[in-house]
Amino acid sequence: MKIICIGRNYTEHIKELANERPIDPVVFIKPDSAVLPKEQDFYIPEFSQDVHYEVEVLVKIKKVGKHIEKKFASNYYDEVGLGIDFTARDVQSQLKQKGLPWEKAKGFDGAAVIGEWVPKSDFRDINDLNFSLIKNGEIVQQGNTGHMLWKIDELISYVSKYFMLKKGDIIFTGTPAGVGKITTNDYLSGVLEGKELFSLNIK
Ligand code: ZN
Repeated sequence: MKIICIGRNYTEHIKELANERPIDPVVFIKPDSAVLPKEQDFYIPEFSQDVHYEVEVLVKIKKVGKHIEKKFASNYYDEVGLGIDFTARDVQSQLKQKGLPWEKAKGFDGAAVIGEWVPKSDFRDINDLNFSLIKNGEIVQQGNTGHMLWKIDELISYVSKYFMLKKGDIIFTGTPAGVGKITTNDYLSGVLEGKELFSLNIK
């Protein structure tokens, strides 16, 4: 199983920026060892002083496919979810400056939180899902999948040009505005269309 993540896929001013849409999505991969085991606390790694949460809508691929056309992309997933793309921002900034890959900042152990899955048939429109991240009782991030620069089906089509998608692969579809630092004893929970799909303690 692999985790394919999409970089910046939302802008705060989507309508104004529609013409400035980048040519291609940013894509990176987390190894399967990055998945935080269910019910486990997240431990801030010793190599970072600045780990950020990024709440993201997730898609679970249900069958093998490559070069998937956008119009067929919806046949490749039945479930959507919510998770966190934990990012060691200080490490990432150093790597970015040097033009190096981001894996150490994004693919470390526990850096992929994967919540409960929900059948997509539960939702009226996959491109109109509200989601949020709550930290210590306060909403810190809010998004709607309608604001994605590349919608879910477009992402599946795009990434499948480069990576064969396999059953069980997960796509992290990018984070909306509001990312921020976590500290010890924080409590995070993620809500998709009114339903809490994950919660965790930061240690
Ligand atoms: Zn992300």
